[in-house]
Amino acid sequence: KVSIFWFRRDLRLEDNTGLYHAYNQEKNILPIFIFDRDILDKLEDKKDARVTFIHHQIDILQKHLQGFGTSILTKYGKPLEVWKELLDSYDIENVYTNRDYEPYAKERDKEVAALLKSHGVQFLDFKDQVIFEKSEVVNGSGDFYKVFTPYSKVWLEKFNQNPPQIVTLDKRKNNFVQVEPFPIVSLESMGFEESDVNIPLLEIDKNLIQQYDKVRNFPAINGTSRLGIHLRFGTVSVRKLALEAARLNATFLNELIWREFYMMILYHNPQVVDKAFKPQYDNIPWRRNEDDFIKWCEGKTGYPIVDAGMRELNATGYMHNRVRMIVASFLTKHLLIDWRWGEAYFAKKLLDFELSSNNGGWQWAAGTGTDAQPYFRVFNPESQTEKFDKELKYIKKWVPEYGTKDYPEPMVAHKFARERAIATYKEALKA
Ligand code: FAD
Repeated sequence: KVSIFWFRRDLRLEDNTGLYHAYNQEKNILPIFIFDRDILDKLEDKKDARVTFIHHQIDILQKHLQGFGTSILTKYGKPLEVWKELLDSYDIENVYTNRDYEPYAKERDKEVAALLKSHGVQFLDFKDQVIFEKSEVVNGSGDFYKVFTPYSKVWLEKFNQNPPQIVTLDKRKNNFVQVEPFPIVSLESMGFEESDVNIPLLEIDKNLIQQYDKVRNFPAINGTSRLGIHLRFGTVSVRKLALEAARLNATFLNELIWREFYMMILYHNPQVVDKAFKPQYDNIPWRRNEDDFIKWCEGKTGYPIVDAGMRELNATGYMHNRVRMIVASFLTKHLLIDWRWGEAYFAKKLLDFELSSNNGGWQWAAGTGTDAQPYFRVFNPESQTEKFDKELKYIKKWVPEYGTKDYPEPMVAHKFARERAIATYKEALKA
């Protein structure tokens, strides 16, 4: 008999809650990972850097697991089918995993749990990727918070009262199945190729975190952690990071709370995946202008800060947060293009793509989301540049032709665009 630990977005051994519980409860743990066709088949880019990243992390896990005399078993397929196969091949006692709050994942886990149950196998899932989940942070009436600030206050109170614990596997015992290493499913066999995009290293840089509040808004400075992709795939423990943040920098901790806020919003409001959080905003008659959208995607809008951001994204899979806000505002307000188009483009390109944060960030920019700010606040790209890239360092890095005749004129005038946006929103919200 074996018990299975199913790795998903928690690709580490250290402080992995579900794995820790499996380790303390079971004797014969077999770790597995499924390369999920329901997700992979939708990726257009066969050199997707995130797939390469996951594959590398599985290699690293494999090495660590060899230290326990065990191996990760990798499979490629649709999870339900893979689980049917596993039930045929193994006499399974219990299945352990960590919870995932995205609509697709919730549905998948429901189906897998039901299948296992029909075979008398328990599906045990644990909180791991957040400090507080679901309805752990709610208001006095037990309802989820719709705005960030009161949520973050309660989150912090709870965190300070009861700081999270870091757990590690006790090396004196070994509760893994003892096997020779299984071969890992290759990228090629799944139709993918190794990407050559650089992935930010996993490093909790204490000096950087200490300075974070002073430098985080300036895109020309390497002033943010670049841990997004590691939080996304669980190669870093959010508890470990939050404990450091609490010691070193309140502003940095606040950003981790934003992450949890958006996950909580998505958990309670799965409809936001394709609908405005504030339903009346779905009345906005978005312009479906493909040509304008392509100019934005390619960084050819004639607004240098917007173009720099889009080019950074296209070249590296990363864009600085300040600039994400500027380009998202530009697309939705200046061009009046549906936030869902921009969201989908980011989802394709961002290494740190996280459904909940991306959706939250886009709905924030479009004014359709949880934010309390009025829709008539339209970012002015020029004053944003003045504030955050005064010396044009970031712009010159990504838009070297800026200032020459090769650089395009602004595709739309700021004053006109601002008035059009406000009038359009106002009209739509009257209905
Ligand atoms: P740091 O500034 O070092 O912050 C540390 C971590 O805190 C981040 O890695 C992230 O996990 C979290 N965090 C920071 N800011 C936010 C925020 N505003 N909302 C939620 N979590 C935050 N973040 C994503 O992780 N994935 C996305 O797909 C994503 N899409 C976005 C789209 C738009 C339009 C906007 C405005 C923001 C988006 N963000 C997204 C939030 C933020 O821009 C990134 O988390 C951040 O820029 C990542 O860089 P970093 O790791 O250096 O972050």
